[in-house]
Amino acid sequence: MTTEKTACILCSRNCGLTVEIENGKFTRIRGDEDHPLTRGYICQKAARLTHYQSHDDRLHYPLKRQADGSFARVSWETALDDIARQLVQIRTAHGGDAFAFVGGGGQGNHLGGAYSRQLLAAMKSRYAYNALGQEKTGDFWVNGRLFGSQTCHTTEDVEHADYVLFIGTNPFQAHGIPNARDTLRELKKNPDRTMVVIDPRRSETARQADIHLQVKPGTDAYLMAAMLAIIVREGLHDRDFLAQHCTGFAALEKELLAIPVADYAQRSDIALADVERVARGFATARSACVRIDLGIQQTLHTTLNGYLEKMLYLVTGNFGRKGGNNLHTFLLPILGNTDERKTRKGKTLKLTAHHRMHPIAGIYPPNILPDEIEHKGEDRVRAIFVDSANPLLTYADSGAYERAFKKLELLVVVDVAMTETARLAHYILPAASQFEKWEATGFNLEFPENTFHLRHALFPPTGECLPEPEIYTRLLEKTGDIPAAFPRLERIARLEPKASAHLLYMGALGATLARHTKWQKFAASIVYRTLGKALPEGAAAAAPLLPLAMVYAGMHYRAVRRAGHQGNRLTLGSALFRAIMERRSGTVLSRHEFSDTWSLIKNRDKRVHLAIPEMFEELRALQSEIMPGAGFPFILMAGERRSYNANQIYRDPAWRKVDPHGAMRMHPDDARELELVEGARATCTSARDSINVVIEIDDGVRRGMVTLPHGYGMRYGNSAPIGPELNRLTSATHCDALSRTPFHKHVPVHVRKIVETAPEISA
Ligand code: SF4
Repeated sequence: MTTEKTACILCSRNCGLTVEIENGKFTRIRGDEDHPLTRGYICQKAARLTHYQSHDDRLHYPLKRQADGSFARVSWETALDDIARQLVQIRTAHGGDAFAFVGGGGQGNHLGGAYSRQLLAAMKSRYAYNALGQEKTGDFWVNGRLFGSQTCHTTEDVEHADYVLFIGTNPFQAHGIPNARDTLRELKKNPDRTMVVIDPRRSETARQADIHLQVKPGTDAYLMAAMLAIIVREGLHDRDFLAQHCTGFAALEKELLAIPVADYAQRSDIALADVERVARGFATARSACVRIDLGIQQTLHTTLNGYLEKMLYLVTGNFGRKGGNNLHTFLLPILGNTDERKTRKGKTLKLTAHHRMHPIAGIYPPNILPDEIEHKGEDRVRAIFVDSANPLLTYADSGAYERAFKKLELLVVVDVAMTETARLAHYILPAASQFEKWEATGFNLEFPENTFHLRHALFPPTGECLPEPEIYTRLLEKTGDIPAAFPRLERIARLEPKASAHLLYMGALGATLARHTKWQKFAASIVYRTLGKALPEGAAAAAPLLPLAMVYAGMHYRAVRRAGHQGNRLTLGSALFRAIMERRSGTVLSRHEFSDTWSLIKNRDKRVHLAIPEMFEELRALQSEIMPGAGFPFILMAGERRSYNANQIYRDPAWRKVDPHGAMRMHPDDARELELVEGARATCTSARDSINVVIEIDDGVRRGMVTLPHGYGMRYGNSAPIGPELNRLTSATHCDALSRTPFHKHVPVHVRKIVETAPEISA
């Protein structure tokens, strides 16, 4: 038996774990007390990780689809040769934009992303689609306008705030904040602190809150606008803060003063007195922050919601301070900055062929991809790589995805498991699991202290599975984009003394890339093939962390030193890299001061630019808006987070201790009217399609609303779908106009009882 350190890979917290392993299996999983951020905390989901590591859908060998639809085992050599040849043909015949990359990453799998993105560069394409494009890009867009770059991402200091507003989030189940359940307990038991939850359902978090505003689904924008209007009318905004750190407040104030507060409170179905109480409490607290999530990001007014929640903490001066909201740093650059206004000046932002959609933070919305494939023009998408994602189940409108993916000339899926998407692929390339390779997450999103956890391999790869860095590097070698070896760089990497600052290697790498500029886009694979060989066995994938650590240490020199890393301007990055490589429980990257938030703003004047004309326009349009959903008696909140659902990497239904059907929650009065009882079967029908569900009675759900969990619908081992296939109901057109984020939390539906008919008895 061995005891090892690793991390949970089921949500963005990536809690540190101490695991015991015997005969190639986890035998015990505990929280890792040495992890600098999570300090031993875990939730119940981590204990079931064995169901991810070994299950019947795991892939073992590369597979090629045959004419009859079955799959045959092929060698890596054959698969990669064939794929490389087809990619080059498509690039030559149709240009790079005939190629799109989907997914890449996941909750714990971001190191591979540095390698897979190179394939886009090799194909001369910019079409990167991933789940962030159907969840967070509205938020990124607003950040770009406020702070000067879509890479400016905010975090919230819930642990130290006196007043916390949770809007459209249920941290008890969804986590997303440090050690969520402990943090909620601390908030609840301190009489000097206030927890407010804005959620249409009395969630597990709402049950612990001081105040729960059970808002009508889809009306969060009205409620937040009303709160802001009250704050400004009553002069509770922070004038000094606004004058010192912001521009555009006068224009914003004018918009807010025009808001009909009582009408908006009524529209959101919250008593005016409660709206006033929360607005005043938030604005006058010593410190206050806002934590939001998909509840307001995947519902009506996605982007406007993102703007208004940020205005709450900015107008009240709860930004750049302890207990407020802040910006944070990234080690892995998972977000880009793609400001669509640049197209007006003839710059190079790429619009999609059919929808003429621009990327946000470098990401295109999955909502439009089926149309981009089915588009009749010569410039349609013809080839797709799907990596660590299952679009057929997880992106809106499964039917459209099925139809479109069947029309592709080349579909390659890189995954650990036979997913619903993989079943349509021409080639399936088996990836090593997250515990069979060195890995890391890019979701290190904390401030003022930021951490990073590089995990080492715990098991040898299953069958012939390969880590993604090896798959993509071999592919680039086969397409001829990089040579098979870099002997000089490799020699220098091996010669350089272990404790050196890597200056010799970095110098040689810089000179090589300056000489061969076309290789610059493939630096990750070049570093992998050279420096990677000088790293401990199996750790080559981590090699690109050296240049990233150097850049990070250069940008945040004082904060990195404050975190205890030793070195001067030349050597600090290398010291940080060594700490990342050596500390099995993760390392603190940087320790900032709250005032550093201002240096992280990308606007030249280091101020927040509050006036965004597009948002003002949307705010004004609220007054005359008619809520969608007429003719449908229920609003479905699709994708609820529960105690035993997770992302799609848990395929084996045996991992669940409860809720095997992913039941539909419904208010008892609604159930009574439909003659539905606990455990009854019903159909749920949207404008798009219909699925069968099992009913769970829950008086925490508002009347007229029903909920279904995400993470179901898989066909484990060729079974029928297990639980709801949510995206049969969702539509790509019911979405935010600006970001194209689907309104998963506001799907108009009918629910009808299934009347079981008795079998006929033959004579
Ligand atoms: S699922 Fe639970 S244990 Fe795993 S990372 Fe998230 S909070 Fe931590």
